[in-house]
Amino acid sequence: MAVRPEPLKTLNQYQILNTIRIAGAISRTEIAQIVGHSRATVTNITSKMIRNDLIYEKEVEGSAARGRNRILLAINPDAAYVVGVKVSAFRIGCVVTDILANVKSSVVMPVRTSERPVEFVSDLIEEAVRHCVKEAGLSLKQISGIGIGIPGLVDSREGVSYWSPLYSRGEKTLRELIRDRFNIETYVDNDSNTVTLSQLWRGQGLGVNNFAVVTVEDGLGMGLIVDGELYRGSNGFAGELGHFVATPGGVQCRCGKKGCYEAYISNFGILNAAKGLCREGVWKCDDADSLSYEDVLEEARAGNQALVEVFKRAGQYLGHALSGLMQLLNPSKIIVTGNGARAGDLIFGPMREMIEESTAPELLKAAEVVVHEWQDMDWALGAACLVLQELYKSPLDRCVAAEKMQEALKAE
Ligand SMILES: [Zn+2]
Repeated sequence: MAVRPEPLKTLNQYQILNTIRIAGAISRTEIAQIVGHSRATVTNITSKMIRNDLIYEKEVEGSAARGRNRILLAINPDAAYVVGVKVSAFRIGCVVTDILANVKSSVVMPVRTSERPVEFVSDLIEEAVRHCVKEAGLSLKQISGIGIGIPGLVDSREGVSYWSPLYSRGEKTLRELIRDRFNIETYVDNDSNTVTLSQLWRGQGLGVNNFAVVTVEDGLGMGLIVDGELYRGSNGFAGELGHFVATPGGVQCRCGKKGCYEAYISNFGILNAAKGLCREGVWKCDDADSLSYEDVLEEARAGNQALVEVFKRAGQYLGHALSGLMQLLNPSKIIVTGNGARAGDLIFGPMREMIEESTAPELLKAAEVVVHEWQDMDWALGAACLVLQELYKSPLDRCVAAEKMQEALKAE
């Protein structure tokens, strides 16, 4: 078994490494100012990190006034590698990244995972991981951890999924199955949380301490960063914005309740409303059952007023939800993302109007709402960040010793 690091030392390492990561390259004096430790403490901790190739000294030209070159510290990108996997109903996406979340290789496998046994899903993940690691020119021994993002209610501490629209549960959890196959530490979390981490690490949330990410897809998800950390709540289920009942007794939701935000805002909710209009004859279309979200979006863009109203209602509910977030949490940013962002102004125009109408001016001013251009790999990248977050917490125990860690797991 690995020796557990002392909590205070671990916290200091984490703060220092994270400060270097966010800055890119930074001097010891500046680190000391930011983290609030003495320069001696910073020097002591960073020298250990340098010895272990976790960080390195980078000489940059000094300012014209003083002329002397400055020695900055930067993270060695090759100090560790991790894998991120995103499992969704019709595909599995996988990335390998270095310790700075730079993508080394990626693969997307178009396979149906819904309602398959968890063992079957594990087989597919195993294949994707092996392929991706090889593509990156690495061996499994160099991988420090595997992160997996799945939809539904996930207890990240236990790695257990309580409710997922995907695979059916077996005797072992997905986390146990993957960990056992590779002898590599594995982390599982809700996919909205993983995509939120990708924003914290590389996206719009870099250096922002309090923000929310709202994902509009077939479902409606949310992830929260509070004081620079993912907020999970008392048993890991925080952020269930999608199944917050906005209109009691309203539209039927997939979760069994009525009137949830998701039932109005998600692609699935929009498609259902459009199918209803088709069946009622308001929208003259051939076959309600074979309609897709893309058909509905195309028709609304062509000016079908009844469908424009469906998107408008979705946007208003979204604005209502975001206004509630602003009032409750006072975030400095809300990032709206997901493939539902394709609807553009059909949704975001009414969303912005509703936000302005329903939010106190002081809170409105504090929060910037941005729509993040959708990138499919964000999901898998986020799952990789789930591992990186753990690595940064005890870097000397984990990054340097991926191989030793694997031996320890094998011996357990
Ligand atoms: Zn619901």
